[in-house]
Amino acid sequence: MTHQFPSLSQEQKKELSGIAQRIVAPGKGILAADESTGTMGKRFQNIKVENNEENRRSFRELLFSTDPSIADCVGGVILFHETLYQKSDSGKLFPQVIRDKGIVVGIKVDKGTAGLNGTDGETTTQGLDGLGERCAQYKKDGCDFAKWRSVLKISDGCPSALAIAENANGLARYASICQQVCNGLVPIVEPEILLDGNHDLQRCQYVTEKVLAAVYKALSDHHVYLEGTLLKPNMVTAGHSCTKKYTPQEVAMATVTALRRTVPASVPGICFLSGGQSEEEASTNLSAINQVPLHRPWKLTFSYGRALQASALAAWQGKAANKAAAQEAFRSRAKINGLAAKGEYKPSSSSDKASMQSLYTASYIY
Ligand code: 13P
Repeated sequence: MTHQFPSLSQEQKKELSGIAQRIVAPGKGILAADESTGTMGKRFQNIKVENNEENRRSFRELLFSTDPSIADCVGGVILFHETLYQKSDSGKLFPQVIRDKGIVVGIKVDKGTAGLNGTDGETTTQGLDGLGERCAQYKKDGCDFAKWRSVLKISDGCPSALAIAENANGLARYASICQQVCNGLVPIVEPEILLDGNHDLQRCQYVTEKVLAAVYKALSDHHVYLEGTLLKPNMVTAGHSCTKKYTPQEVAMATVTALRRTVPASVPGICFLSGGQSEEEASTNLSAINQVPLHRPWKLTFSYGRALQASALAAWQGKAANKAAAQEAFRSRAKINGLAAKGEYKPSSSSDKASMQSLYTASYIY
Protein backbone atom coordinates (compact mmCIF):
# COMPACT_ATOMS: atom_id res chain seq x y z
CA MET A 1 0.00 0.00 0.00
CA THR A 2 1.59 3.28 -1.02
CA HIS A 3 1.37 6.33 1.17
CA GLN A 4 -0.62 8.44 -1.24
CA PHE A 5 -1.59 11.30 1.01
CA PRO A 6 1.23 12.17 3.40
CA SER A 7 -0.01 14.62 5.99
CA LEU A 8 3.12 15.54 7.90
CA SER A 9 6.44 16.76 6.47
CA GLN A 10 9.76 15.30 7.61
CA GLU A 11 10.35 18.44 9.71
CA GLN A 12 7.00 18.13 11.41
CA LYS A 13 7.63 14.48 12.19
CA LYS A 14 11.05 15.37 13.55
CA GLU A 15 9.56 18.03 15.80
CA LEU A 16 6.91 15.66 17.20
CA SER A 17 9.27 12.77 17.84
CA GLY A 18 11.83 15.16 19.36
CA ILE A 19 9.24 16.48 21.83
CA ALA A 20 8.13 12.96 22.79
CA GLN A 21 11.72 11.84 23.35
CA ARG A 22 12.57 14.85 25.50
CA ILE A 23 9.61 14.14 27.80
CA VAL A 24 10.67 10.54 28.38
CA ALA A 25 14.45 10.99 28.40
CA PRO A 26 16.13 8.40 30.68
CA GLY A 27 14.97 8.74 34.28
CA LYS A 28 12.28 11.29 33.45
CA GLY A 29 8.50 11.12 33.64
CA ILE A 30 5.50 13.42 33.78
CA LEU A 31 3.80 15.37 36.54
CA ALA A 32 0.05 15.28 35.84
CA ALA A 33 -1.14 18.54 37.41
CA ASP A 34 -4.17 18.87 35.15
CA GLU A 35 -6.89 18.08 37.67
CA SER A 36 -10.14 19.80 36.80
CA THR A 37 -11.49 22.43 39.18
CA GLY A 38 -13.91 19.89 40.64
CA THR A 39 -11.18 17.32 41.28
CA MET A 40 -9.01 19.96 42.97
CA GLY A 41 -12.00 20.64 45.21
CA LYS A 42 -11.99 17.03 46.39
CA ARG A 43 -8.23 17.12 47.03
CA PHE A 44 -8.54 20.37 48.98
CA GLN A 45 -11.48 19.05 50.99
CA ASN A 46 -9.18 16.43 52.54
CA ILE A 47 -6.88 19.16 53.85
CA LYS A 48 -9.70 21.65 54.59
CA VAL A 49 -8.58 24.22 52.03
CA GLU A 50 -11.14 26.31 50.14
CA ASN A 51 -11.34 25.49 46.43
CA ASN A 52 -10.83 28.95 44.95
CA GLU A 53 -8.64 30.16 42.09
CA GLU A 54 -5.94 31.62 44.34
CA ASN A 55 -5.55 28.42 46.37
CA ARG A 56 -5.33 26.35 43.18
CA ARG A 57 -2.70 28.79 41.91
CA SER A 58 -0.74 28.67 45.17
CA PHE A 59 -0.55 24.89 45.20
CA ARG A 60 0.56 24.72 41.59
CA GLU A 61 3.06 27.56 42.19
CA LEU A 62 4.58 25.43 44.90
CA LEU A 63 4.99 22.48 42.54
CA PHE A 64 6.36 24.46 39.60
CA SER A 65 8.79 26.55 41.66
CA THR A 66 10.41 23.51 43.24
CA ASP A 67 14.21 23.42 42.96
CA PRO A 68 15.40 23.24 39.29
CA SER A 69 16.94 19.81 39.98
CA ILE A 70 13.35 18.56 39.58
CA ALA A 71 14.05 18.65 35.84
CA ASP A 72 16.38 15.66 36.28
CA CYS A 73 13.32 13.49 36.88
CA VAL A 74 10.39 15.45 35.40
CA GLY A 75 10.38 15.83 31.61
CA GLY A 76 6.84 17.14 31.22
CA VAL A 77 4.05 18.77 33.21
CA ILE A 78 0.39 18.53 32.18
CA LEU A 79 -1.70 21.61 32.98
CA PHE A 80 -5.41 22.35 33.19
CA HIS A 81 -6.67 25.25 31.04
CA GLU A 82 -6.95 27.65 33.99
CA THR A 83 -3.35 27.03 35.09
CA LEU A 84 -1.91 27.79 31.66
CA TYR A 85 -2.88 31.43 32.10
CA GLN A 86 -1.97 31.84 35.78
CA LYS A 87 1.24 33.40 37.07
CA SER A 88 3.88 32.53 39.64
CA ASP A 89 4.46 34.69 42.73
CA SER A 90 7.11 36.54 40.73
CA GLY A 91 4.59 37.40 38.00
CA LYS A 92 5.79 34.96 35.33
CA LEU A 93 3.25 32.87 33.42
CA PHE A 94 3.40 29.25 34.59
CA PRO A 95 4.26 27.80 31.16
CA GLN A 96 7.35 30.05 31.13
CA VAL A 97 8.34 29.01 34.65
CA ILE A 98 8.16 25.37 33.57
CA ARG A 99 9.93 25.85 30.24
CA ASP A 100 12.73 27.83 31.94
CA LYS A 101 13.53 24.64 33.83
CA GLY A 102 13.82 22.74 30.56
CA ILE A 103 10.54 20.90 31.16
CA VAL A 104 7.97 20.45 28.38
CA VAL A 105 4.50 21.95 28.92
CA GLY A 106 1.37 19.93 28.17
CA ILE A 107 -2.35 20.58 28.35
CA LYS A 108 -5.43 18.48 29.05
CA VAL A 109 -7.76 18.95 26.08
CA ASP A 110 -10.63 16.55 26.73
CA LYS A 111 -13.86 17.80 28.23
CA GLY A 112 -14.67 14.89 30.51
CA THR A 113 -16.88 11.88 29.95
CA ALA A 114 -20.50 11.34 28.88
CA GLY A 115 -22.59 8.20 29.26
CA LEU A 116 -23.01 5.68 26.44
CA ASN A 117 -26.72 4.85 26.29
CA GLY A 118 -27.61 1.20 26.57
CA THR A 119 -24.41 0.23 28.36
CA ASP A 120 -23.83 -0.59 32.01
CA GLY A 121 -22.69 2.92 32.93
CA GLU A 122 -19.87 3.06 30.38
CA THR A 123 -18.67 6.34 28.92
CA THR A 124 -17.09 8.08 25.97
CA THR A 125 -14.91 11.19 26.20
CA GLN A 126 -16.04 14.57 24.88
CA GLY A 127 -14.13 17.49 23.39
CA LEU A 128 -13.56 16.83 19.68
CA ASP A 129 -15.61 19.83 18.47
CA GLY A 130 -13.34 22.83 17.97
CA LEU A 131 -10.34 20.79 19.13
CA GLY A 132 -8.16 21.84 16.17
CA GLU A 133 -8.57 25.54 16.99
CA ARG A 134 -7.94 24.95 20.68
CA CYS A 135 -4.77 22.95 19.93
CA ALA A 136 -3.43 25.67 17.62
CA GLN A 137 -3.98 28.26 20.37
CA TYR A 138 -2.39 26.08 23.04
CA LYS A 139 0.67 25.60 20.84
CA LYS A 140 0.99 29.39 20.52
CA ASP A 141 0.62 29.68 24.30
CA GLY A 142 3.60 27.43 24.98
CA CYS A 143 2.29 23.84 24.95
CA ASP A 144 4.05 21.03 23.10
CA PHE A 145 1.94 18.07 24.13
CA ALA A 146 -1.65 17.22 25.05
CA LYS A 147 -3.61 14.67 27.04
CA TRP A 148 -6.98 13.04 26.47
CA ARG A 149 -8.38 10.56 29.00
CA SER A 150 -10.72 7.76 27.96
CA VAL A 151 -12.21 5.63 30.70
CA LEU A 152 -13.10 1.93 30.64
CA LYS A 153 -14.15 -0.36 33.44
CA ILE A 154 -14.06 -4.06 34.16
CA SER A 155 -17.14 -5.97 35.32
CA ASP A 156 -18.97 -9.10 34.13
CA GLY A 157 -20.11 -7.43 30.91
CA CYS A 158 -17.60 -4.57 30.68
CA PRO A 159 -15.85 -3.24 28.83
CA SER A 160 -18.39 -3.73 26.06
CA ALA A 161 -17.33 -3.94 22.42
CA LEU A 162 -19.04 -0.58 21.91
CA ALA A 163 -17.07 1.14 24.70
CA ILE A 164 -13.78 -0.28 23.43
CA ALA A 165 -14.45 0.78 19.81
CA GLU A 166 -15.89 4.20 20.64
CA ASN A 167 -13.08 5.16 23.01
CA ALA A 168 -10.36 3.86 20.68
CA ASN A 169 -11.78 5.89 17.82
CA GLY A 170 -12.08 9.02 19.99
CA LEU A 171 -8.47 8.72 21.10
CA ALA A 172 -7.30 8.25 17.52
CA ARG A 173 -9.28 11.21 16.20
CA TYR A 174 -7.89 13.38 19.02
CA ALA A 175 -4.33 12.18 18.34
CA SER A 176 -4.66 12.94 14.66
CA ILE A 177 -5.91 16.49 15.38
CA CYS A 178 -3.05 17.16 17.82
CA GLN A 179 -0.46 16.17 15.24
CA GLN A 180 -2.10 18.05 12.39
CA VAL A 181 -0.05 20.70 10.63
CA CYS A 182 -0.09 24.00 12.65
CA ASN A 183 -1.02 22.22 15.87
CA GLY A 184 2.26 20.37 16.50
CA LEU A 185 1.22 18.79 19.80
CA VAL A 186 2.38 15.32 20.83
CA PRO A 187 -0.78 13.46 21.89
CA ILE A 188 -0.70 11.42 25.08
CA VAL A 189 -3.12 8.62 24.39
CA GLU A 190 -4.76 7.56 27.67
CA PRO A 191 -7.14 4.62 27.69
CA GLU A 192 -7.54 4.22 31.46
CA ILE A 193 -9.00 0.96 32.71
CA LEU A 194 -10.25 1.73 36.21
CA LEU A 195 -9.11 -0.13 39.30
CA ASP A 196 -12.74 -0.69 40.38
CA GLY A 197 -13.86 -4.30 40.67
CA ASN A 198 -12.91 -7.64 42.21
CA HIS A 199 -11.31 -9.13 39.09
CA ASP A 200 -7.93 -10.85 39.28
CA LEU A 201 -4.65 -9.93 37.59
CA GLN A 202 -5.24 -12.21 34.59
CA ARG A 203 -8.58 -10.62 33.79
CA CYS A 204 -7.05 -7.13 33.90
CA GLN A 205 -4.25 -8.31 31.60
CA TYR A 206 -6.74 -9.79 29.13
CA VAL A 207 -8.87 -6.62 29.05
CA THR A 208 -5.81 -4.35 28.82
CA GLU A 209 -4.58 -6.31 25.79
CA LYS A 210 -7.97 -6.05 24.05
CA VAL A 211 -8.26 -2.32 24.76
CA LEU A 212 -4.70 -1.50 23.64
CA ALA A 213 -5.01 -3.62 20.50
CA ALA A 214 -8.15 -1.65 19.55
CA VAL A 215 -6.43 1.66 20.31
CA TYR A 216 -3.43 0.88 18.06
CA LYS A 217 -5.69 -0.34 15.24
CA ALA A 218 -7.61 2.95 15.44
CA LEU A 219 -4.41 5.02 15.57
CA SER A 220 -3.23 3.25 12.42
CA ASP A 221 -6.60 3.78 10.71
CA HIS A 222 -6.33 7.50 11.50
CA HIS A 223 -2.76 7.71 10.10
CA VAL A 224 -1.32 8.80 13.44
CA TYR A 225 2.47 9.12 13.48
CA LEU A 226 3.33 6.80 16.36
CA GLU A 227 6.88 8.11 16.89
CA GLY A 228 5.25 11.40 17.86
CA THR A 229 2.88 9.97 20.49
CA LEU A 230 3.08 8.70 24.06
CA LEU A 231 0.85 6.08 25.68
CA LYS A 232 -0.58 6.56 29.18
CA PRO A 233 -2.08 3.25 30.28
CA ASN A 234 -3.02 1.69 33.59
CA MET A 235 -0.60 -0.84 35.02
CA VAL A 236 -2.01 -4.36 34.92
CA THR A 237 -3.19 -4.97 38.48
CA ALA A 238 -5.97 -6.90 40.17
CA GLY A 239 -9.18 -4.99 40.92
CA HIS A 240 -9.32 -2.90 44.07
CA SER A 241 -11.57 -5.40 45.86
CA CYS A 242 -9.86 -8.58 44.64
CA THR A 243 -9.00 -10.68 47.68
CA LYS A 244 -5.88 -12.19 46.13
CA LYS A 245 -2.77 -10.02 46.48
CA TYR A 246 -0.01 -9.98 43.86
CA THR A 247 3.65 -9.06 44.19
CA PRO A 248 5.18 -6.12 42.29
CA GLN A 249 7.01 -8.71 40.18
CA GLU A 250 3.72 -10.35 39.17
CA VAL A 251 2.17 -6.98 38.36
CA ALA A 252 5.27 -6.04 36.37
CA MET A 253 5.33 -9.25 34.34
CA ALA A 254 1.60 -9.00 33.50
CA THR A 255 2.00 -5.36 32.53
CA VAL A 256 5.04 -5.82 30.30
CA THR A 257 3.49 -8.91 28.69
CA ALA A 258 0.31 -7.00 27.80
CA LEU A 259 2.31 -4.08 26.40
CA ARG A 260 4.67 -6.30 24.35
CA ARG A 261 1.64 -7.94 22.73
CA THR A 262 -0.02 -4.71 21.70
CA VAL A 263 2.15 -1.56 21.64
CA PRO A 264 4.35 -1.05 18.55
CA ALA A 265 8.06 -0.54 19.15
CA SER A 266 7.84 2.81 17.35
CA VAL A 267 6.07 4.36 20.36
CA PRO A 268 8.83 6.19 22.26
CA GLY A 269 7.37 6.05 25.73
CA ILE A 270 4.74 4.52 27.95
CA CYS A 271 3.93 6.71 30.94
CA PHE A 272 1.72 4.97 33.46
CA LEU A 273 -1.06 6.65 35.42
CA SER A 274 -1.12 5.84 39.13
CA GLY A 275 -4.86 5.12 39.18
CA GLY A 276 -5.41 5.07 42.95
CA GLN A 277 -2.31 3.10 43.96
CA SER A 278 -0.47 4.49 46.98
CA GLU A 279 2.63 6.55 46.27
CA GLU A 280 4.86 3.69 47.36
CA GLU A 281 2.98 1.05 45.35
CA ALA A 282 3.14 3.16 42.20
CA SER A 283 6.91 3.63 42.60
CA THR A 284 7.65 0.03 43.56
CA ASN A 285 5.59 -1.38 40.69
CA LEU A 286 7.23 0.98 38.18
CA SER A 287 10.68 -0.07 39.32
CA ALA A 288 9.70 -3.75 39.03
CA ILE A 289 8.34 -3.10 35.52
CA ASN A 290 11.75 -1.75 34.54
CA GLN A 291 13.40 -4.90 35.84
CA VAL A 292 11.33 -7.43 33.89
CA PRO A 293 13.78 -9.67 32.02
CA LEU A 294 12.08 -9.23 28.64
CA HIS A 295 12.94 -6.85 25.82
CA ARG A 296 11.17 -3.53 26.38
CA PRO A 297 11.53 -1.34 23.27
CA TRP A 298 9.93 1.76 24.81
CA LYS A 299 10.74 3.94 27.84
CA LEU A 300 8.53 2.84 30.73
CA THR A 301 7.94 5.73 33.08
CA PHE A 302 5.37 7.65 35.11
CA SER A 303 2.70 10.25 34.45
CA TYR A 304 1.33 10.43 37.95
CA GLY A 305 -1.22 12.76 39.46
CA ARG A 306 -2.17 11.41 42.87
CA ALA A 307 1.02 9.40 43.41
CA LEU A 308 3.20 12.49 42.90
CA GLN A 309 1.15 15.00 44.84
CA ALA A 310 -0.45 13.28 47.83
CA SER A 311 2.45 13.81 50.25
CA ALA A 312 2.98 17.37 49.04
CA LEU A 313 -0.69 18.22 49.61
CA ALA A 314 -0.60 16.66 53.07
CA ALA A 315 2.53 18.64 53.97
CA TRP A 316 1.13 21.90 52.57
CA GLN A 317 -2.27 22.10 54.31
CA GLY A 318 -2.90 25.40 52.51
CA LYS A 319 -0.30 27.27 54.64
CA ALA A 320 2.45 29.42 53.14
CA ALA A 321 4.68 28.44 56.06
CA ASN A 322 4.58 24.83 54.86
CA LYS A 323 5.65 25.60 51.28
CA ALA A 324 9.25 24.40 51.66
CA ALA A 325 8.17 21.16 53.35
CA ALA A 326 5.60 20.49 50.63
CA GLN A 327 8.18 21.15 47.91
CA GLU A 328 10.57 18.73 49.61
CA ALA A 329 7.83 16.07 49.70
CA PHE A 330 7.17 16.57 45.99
CA ARG A 331 10.88 16.58 45.11
CA SER A 332 11.43 13.40 47.06
CA ARG A 333 8.55 11.54 45.31
CA ALA A 334 9.68 12.78 41.90
CA LYS A 335 13.23 11.59 42.60
CA ILE A 336 11.99 8.16 43.69
CA ASN A 337 9.92 7.81 40.52
CA GLY A 338 12.88 8.95 38.41
CA LEU A 339 14.86 6.06 39.91
CA ALA A 340 11.91 3.69 39.36
CA ALA A 341 11.84 4.70 35.69
CA LYS A 342 15.35 3.23 35.49
CA GLY A 343 14.47 0.18 37.60
CA GLU A 344 16.70 1.48 40.38
CA TYR A 345 14.27 2.21 43.20
CA LYS A 346 14.63 0.03 46.26
CA PRO A 347 11.75 0.60 48.69
CA SER A 348 12.99 1.30 52.19
CA SER A 349 11.27 -0.05 55.27
CA SER A 350 11.35 3.48 56.69
CA SER A 351 8.88 4.80 54.09
CA ASP A 352 6.40 7.03 55.88
CA LYS A 353 2.84 5.90 56.48
CA ALA A 354 1.25 8.55 54.25
CA SER A 355 3.08 7.27 51.17
CA MET A 356 1.66 3.77 51.78
CA GLN A 357 -1.93 4.99 51.92
CA SER A 358 -4.23 3.93 49.09
CA LEU A 359 -5.31 6.86 46.92
CA TYR A 360 -8.23 4.94 45.43
CA THR A 361 -11.57 6.61 44.70
CA ALA A 362 -14.44 4.58 43.19
CA SER A 363 -15.43 5.53 39.58
CA TYR A 364 -12.67 8.13 39.50
CA ILE A 365 -13.39 11.38 37.68
CA TYR A 366 -10.40 13.54 36.81
P1 13P B 1 -3.45 9.50 38.60
O1 13P B 1 -1.97 9.26 38.53
O2 13P B 1 -3.87 10.21 39.85
O3 13P B 1 -4.25 8.28 38.30
O4 13P B 1 -3.81 10.56 37.47
C1 13P B 1 -3.10 10.64 36.33
C2 13P B 1 -3.92 11.25 35.25
O5 13P B 1 -3.45 12.13 34.59
C3 13P B 1 -5.27 10.74 34.97
O6 13P B 1 -5.73 11.22 33.75
